[in-house]
Amino acid sequence: MKEIVLKGVPAAPGIASGLAFILDKQEYLVTPRAILEKEVPIEIARFEEALIHTRQEIIEIKKKMSNELLGEHAQLFDAHLLVLEDRALIEEVVKRIKKEHLGCEYIFSEVIKKYVKIFSKIEDEYLRERVTDINDVGRRVLKNLVGEHKLHDLNSITESLIIISHDLSPSDTASMYNQNIIAFATDIGGRTSHTAIMAKTLGVPAIVGLKDATLQVQNQDYLIVDGRKGLLIINPAAETIAFYEKEKNRMEEFRGQFQDIKNLPAETTDGRRIQLYANLELEGEASSAKINFAEGIGLYRTEFFYMNRTDMPTEDEQFDAYKRVLGIMAGQIVTIRTLDLGGDKFISSLQIPKEMYAYWGWRAIRFCLACPDIFKTQLRAILRASHFGKLQIMYPMISGPEDLRKANAILDEVRASLRRENIPFDEALKVGIMIEVPSAAMTADLLAKEAAFFSIGTNDLIQYTLAVDRVNEQTADMYQPGHPGVLRLIKLTVDAAHAQGKEVSVCGEMANEPHLALLLIGLGVDCLSMSPLSILQIKKMIRTVSFANTQKVANEALQLSTGHEVETLAQKALKEFVPDLFNAKNE
Ligand code: PEP
Ligand code: MG
Repeated sequence: MKEIVLKGVPAAPGIASGLAFILDKQEYLVTPRAILEKEVPIEIARFEEALIHTRQEIIEIKKKMSNELLGEHAQLFDAHLLVLEDRALIEEVVKRIKKEHLGCEYIFSEVIKKYVKIFSKIEDEYLRERVTDINDVGRRVLKNLVGEHKLHDLNSITESLIIISHDLSPSDTASMYNQNIIAFATDIGGRTSHTAIMAKTLGVPAIVGLKDATLQVQNQDYLIVDGRKGLLIINPAAETIAFYEKEKNRMEEFRGQFQDIKNLPAETTDGRRIQLYANLELEGEASSAKINFAEGIGLYRTEFFYMNRTDMPTEDEQFDAYKRVLGIMAGQIVTIRTLDLGGDKFISSLQIPKEMYAYWGWRAIRFCLACPDIFKTQLRAILRASHFGKLQIMYPMISGPEDLRKANAILDEVRASLRRENIPFDEALKVGIMIEVPSAAMTADLLAKEAAFFSIGTNDLIQYTLAVDRVNEQTADMYQPGHPGVLRLIKLTVDAAHAQGKEVSVCGEMANEPHLALLLIGLGVDCLSMSPLSILQIKKMIRTVSFANTQKVANEALQLSTGHEVETLAQKALKEFVPDLFNAKNE
């Protein structure tokens, strides 16, 4: 088989090799399960029982529809019954169970997929339309074999696989806390989509924006995912496999060096101390922040709490989770960002059309101000938790002082009600804001008077400044962190905050990239917050450079006129000042 190399957008670093599993949410998620020779008759019987059961189900539905005067629609189900009785299909499944010794649900799903492919290509419109019948019946039989919920549950994957999918939502990725998913690659998506961000935190190599990976890869193909360079290698040649084995070892050896600095401060060679914090999406990641020596949590993306469930989280549930995170961080700062719903993050329990949540739409603080009950519940939980550690609040998507004042007015109401109820909370709790809307950066001097701290959300700031959708692979090249427009807004924000004696952090993905983090330090940023797994390499960079040199690089960058020139300059600086790190990432 010929080796094929596809190039996409690098989303999470690392190298993984293994078998492909194509996840198509329109279809079903069934993984192969090996069976013993003696289990073959049992599997065939299970399959036949599922066919009988499904047949009875369909007859019942048909009867019900006829009774309810929906007779003409009931005929649709005749076509379904015909699929169920198709001898060729049944015989193929039985033959393959006997030959391949795999569970009947997997074999059946493969045979159904094959039929769908064949029928989709037929020119005759009537026959082509049978695809829907085949799919419907397929899903019914599978549901009877493995249960509805399991058909779409990524946790049901039981062997090490690389997921290939057209798209993965952040909530899909959140359910990937499964040791068996060793990497993933998607057709669409940009490098700061939340799916990419979560992959980084999970330590799972990932590539997005491959455009047609789902067409090029077949189930069970052997793949290599190079998450650093965004390369997906299908059926790699022996020498490619050998090369990547060496690469894996080299990366591991290099990471081993970071252990020497884990307890040392993130301080430049000339004494500028930078705080290194972790970003958190799920409570479970707090221990990873600790293990990787984060000095606190700079961004807790609480919206994941609201996902993958059919109801809204209660005040107590949120309070307990925040308190647990404070406990794990043991006295360190935990910055809780209030609900940042929208963009690529949806909450299924709120039946609101997705279009309303667009990146530029009814998102984040705008949604919270419009739904004060939801907002107040979260604020109460946060304030109550503040009694148990060093907590601070951060509002997302603030566009200027008006948003901040409105949010603070609600916070004051919540504070007053807690006081009335004699419920303790931290009266000195700091309230800061994300700077991610260009108008916030441009009014940073005004905002700095009213906010306790700033955290620059470069993921959104870049997309809004450049008018480039952060999850669109077609415009991925135009999404430039080093664009002069972005750099100037960052500089403006830092200077405005410092003029008021306030600290500035960066919690967007720029903070994870050693060359861009070097530039941010030169621009005067006080704190960087990132995926826990990036902390030690960023510390390595900081401890190897001098602040004076980073300032020189930043000043030079501010004179350049394109994002590509700034990117090249920052890479050159990393190569000159921290060659080991540069080589490990680029060679
Ligand atoms: C950002 O926009 O940079 C940020 C950190 O927030 P999010 O990625 O959750 O939008
Ligand atoms: Mg953001």
